[in-house]
Amino acid sequence: MEETKRYEYKLVIMGPPGSGKGTISELIENKLSIPHISMGDILRNKVKEGNEQGKKLKDIMKKGELIPNDIIEDLIKQRLSKDDVTSQFLLDGFPRELEQAQFLTRITGVDGIIMVDIDENTIVNRLSQRRICSSCEKGYHLQFKPPKQEGVCDDCGGKLVRREDDDPELIKKRLRTYHETTTPVIDFFEKKGIPTLEVPGDYDLETESDNIINQIVQWQESLRE
Ligand code: AMP
Repeated sequence: MEETKRYEYKLVIMGPPGSGKGTISELIENKLSIPHISMGDILRNKVKEGNEQGKKLKDIMKKGELIPNDIIEDLIKQRLSKDDVTSQFLLDGFPRELEQAQFLTRITGVDGIIMVDIDENTIVNRLSQRRICSSCEKGYHLQFKPPKQEGVCDDCGGKLVRREDDDPELIKKRLRTYHETTTPVIDFFEKKGIPTLEVPGDYDLETESDNIINQIVQWQESLRE
């Protein structure tokens, strides 16, 4: 059977840390074949390189603070110059503040914003119970997405650990930073007339994924009208 043509979209997903942005992004990447670019993952990979820049990034991230814009802009420019993202992408964790949003719209177009909506108590609970594999970085949640065997990654057998910045006090700090820095970004995109779709962050991955994807597909179709 001939596959129907898929239109291509440049999207940004926004929402507080712990809103489930990463999970929804993976879902969109898998179901709709839109490449997911996670700024947090790019930075964590840089940290792993263990060089001077990596050490500097690690210190800032450990404190739950934002990385300076010149570094972020450089990294995103490099990533957006790759062939797989010339016509479509889903940006996650970037832009996080106004100057980054202005930079993004100077270097590429943005077709729409996906906004993940969730209350803060749910976030604190979710982040403090989040674990990642120290080897392959697959994400887990002790309550909602537990590993088959406690403390062990289902995929690679690596040890599950808490991300250093998922400490409850740091989570509150990251949420404050998010609200202070991201509100101007939301206003900026709104003033530019870039359409926004709100999706719930507290949906059940097992039973409601299809609904979320359908909602996104319908919205994408409306972007073409
Ligand atoms: P995340 O995985 O998106 O929660 O990001 C983890 C950490 O990486 C953040 O707490 C920041 O320290 C840093 N970070 C990620 N994206 C950005 C960005 N766009 N600008 C500045 N710092 C960032």
